[in-house]
Amino acid sequence: MLHATHEQIKLVGNKIGLNTEEIERILEVDAHHEFDIILKNGQKHKAFRIQHSDARGPYKGGIRFHPDVDSDEVKALATLMSLKTAAVNIPLGGAKGGVRVDPKMLNLKELEELSRKYVQKLAPHIGPNKDIPAPDVNTDPRIIDWMVDEYSRISGDTTRGSFTGKSIDGGGSEGRDAATGRGGVIVLSEYLRLKGMSGKKVSYAIQGFGNVGSFFGLVAAKEQKNWRMLAATDSSGGIYEKNSLWPSELEDFKKSGGRLRDYGIGQKINNDELVSANVDVLVLAALGSVVNESNAHLVKAKIVLELANGPVDDKAHKLLEARGVIVIPDILANAGGVIVSYLEWLQNLNQEHWTINKVNKQLNSLLKEAVINIFDRSVSSKMNIKEAALAVAMERILMAR
Ligand code: NAD
Repeated sequence: MLHATHEQIKLVGNKIGLNTEEIERILEVDAHHEFDIILKNGQKHKAFRIQHSDARGPYKGGIRFHPDVDSDEVKALATLMSLKTAAVNIPLGGAKGGVRVDPKMLNLKELEELSRKYVQKLAPHIGPNKDIPAPDVNTDPRIIDWMVDEYSRISGDTTRGSFTGKSIDGGGSEGRDAATGRGGVIVLSEYLRLKGMSGKKVSYAIQGFGNVGSFFGLVAAKEQKNWRMLAATDSSGGIYEKNSLWPSELEDFKKSGGRLRDYGIGQKINNDELVSANVDVLVLAALGSVVNESNAHLVKAKIVLELANGPVDDKAHKLLEARGVIVIPDILANAGGVIVSYLEWLQNLNQEHWTINKVNKQLNSLLKEAVINIFDRSVSSKMNIKEAALAVAMERILMAR
């Protein structure tokens, strides 16, 4: 992943005429924190926080608890965070953290101990004006609330702006849970508008009807009257229904513990069939590299929206581009989450709590501006949208670094 991230940056850097020294300045990591967390039960877990760049504002990025966490992956994700915050022009940098642990093997007390000890080790290097972590894979508002409490105890900070993704009672923002899915709807609808396709009928399929995917469907059903969801899957597979599926009904079914392939309406499909669904837009909201060299030729959609991180690998991207399929890249398509994190941090620093309408309005305007900017760049520089997003982000980082 680190190699692929660096190669992408070098490729776009060369396209926009950056020299080797400038590309190295973008790749450089500010700080690498690596330490062991030892729990009372004797378990030892390797932990990381990699701060890529704070040139544009305090470091920002999630903390994941996962057995596969390693330093190169965290470094790549930290770099991608700097690119994402720069691409959508919010005044934050990029970082990422992780603990090599399977949280399912810990009881609640051990999970809290791990979360608090992570903060104890990192406290000198984080804080509302230095580095503002957030949840990521297997970390949630409850864990973040423990972390904020630990940081406040150590530092005396009372703003609660040291982390985002908190519970609402703990200082979190309205709209954070839906932000990434909502952001995907805003980005797609703005892209269609710029292509002169507003108001046209749009059919779509969602791979990964989880948090991000389901909110994409729910927001789209409410706010985009001409869009229809024809297929959706989770890890079990899913369903295709040519006359349209209702996201709210699917959501209720999932909440009651159902697996989408048992939904009862429509035709059962597996995840390979979802990728080749006959729809206008393929929404990828599950995992990385699900569209690759082996299945890119099966994609029938004209637009692929990357809500997960890196669901279309580089080889597949080239194959899709050669067939005229547009890929709207993750650093733009899924940036709604980090934008509302930024809004949460602003609310904390100003001791405010905004209404959902105010949060959504700000999200809307920041994302639309980012889409317009990146779209214009892709036209003026004859680049695809991913290259244009990276170009805009890299130039902003370079200017500040
Ligand atoms: P989630 O765990 O809530 O949902 C993931 C969904 O994908 C689940 O429905 C799961 O069943 C499904 N899934 C798992 N394996 C699958 C497979 N092989 N094929 C099809 N579906 C599969 O996670 P989430 O928070 O919705 O995140 C989804 C993706 O978006 C992740 O890649 C995440 O890194 C990325 N992302 C999330 C956020 C956020 O704010 N949550 C922000 C940026 C990026």
